[in-house]
Parts: sequence; C-alpha cells; structure tokens
Amino acid sequence: MPLLTICKYPGCRRPVARGEKYCEKHKEAGSKREELQKRERWERRFRKKGSSAARGYGARWRRLRERFLSEHPLCEECLKQGRAVPATDVDHIRPHKGNEDLMWDEENLQALCHACHSRKTAAEDGGFGNIKTSLPAPETAELEYAEKF
Ligand SMILES: [Zn+2]
Ligand SMILES: [Zn+2]
Repeated sequence: MPLLTICKYPGCRRPVARGEKYCEKHKEAGSKREELQKRERWERRFRKKGSSAARGYGARWRRLRERFLSEHPLCEECLKQGRAVPATDVDHIRPHKGNEDLMWDEENLQALCHACHSRKTAAEDGGFGNIKTSLPAPETAELEYAEKF
C-alpha cells in the first residue's frame, strides 16, 4: 500500500507521497509561503519583545512625533524636489542609536513621507536583502533604545 498524504497547500487536496509536503504544482508556491510565515512569526516575536520595555519611550515619542508632524506636514525630501507630499514619518537625520541627545533633539528630526523614509533607512542599513535590516526603521530604533533599559 503506497504511503500517501495530502498536499499541505491551502485548498489543495491532491495526494502526495509521504515525506513530501506539497504536490508538484505547489512545491514552489508552498515553500515560498512557508518562508513568508516564518518571517511573519519572526517579526511578531521581535515586536513583542520590545513593546513593553519600549512603552515609556513609545508614548513620549508618539507625542513628539504627532506634534512634529503637525508642525511639519510636508515631506522635507520631496519639498526639496518641489513636490508637496504629506509627511507620515519622523526621521532622525543622524541615527540616534539609543543616544538620548540625538533621540529627542528636534534639530535632528525631519518629516518624511513613507517612500523617502524607507529609501533613507534602506541606504543606512546597507541595502535590502535580509530580514533583519528590512524591518521598518522606527521599530528597530525603538528596540535598540529599549534594550538599554
Ligand atoms: Zn497542491
Ligand atoms: Zn518624500
């Protein structure tokens, strides 16, 4: 009797040999999906770890961020190129890396749109490509900061 199981791809019930997870048709899609899930789990854990420790910083930062954005409603990078784009992110011009002076110094802040902010943090991290550095920067900064306490 052949040992069969069914393809683990959602919605697919095709039989596959035991030991295989997916049918021929879903081999590639299935492993891609697993990668994605692994990454999501990893990111969730990463966020959870910092959230309670970062709460103090989080509330203060949120207030500063909201006020800063209300005073600087347009993306400063886009403005330099003559485009008026609503700012959504507050960026540290020099990465603060846990340094409180840089962290809370409003001279060191600039309002950016999401696209400009991603571009800047990608450049700072040395490019795309691995899971760790492609996390959104504010989260990363928050965690680095939190770990000091
Ligand atoms: Zn399948
Ligand atoms: Zn922009």
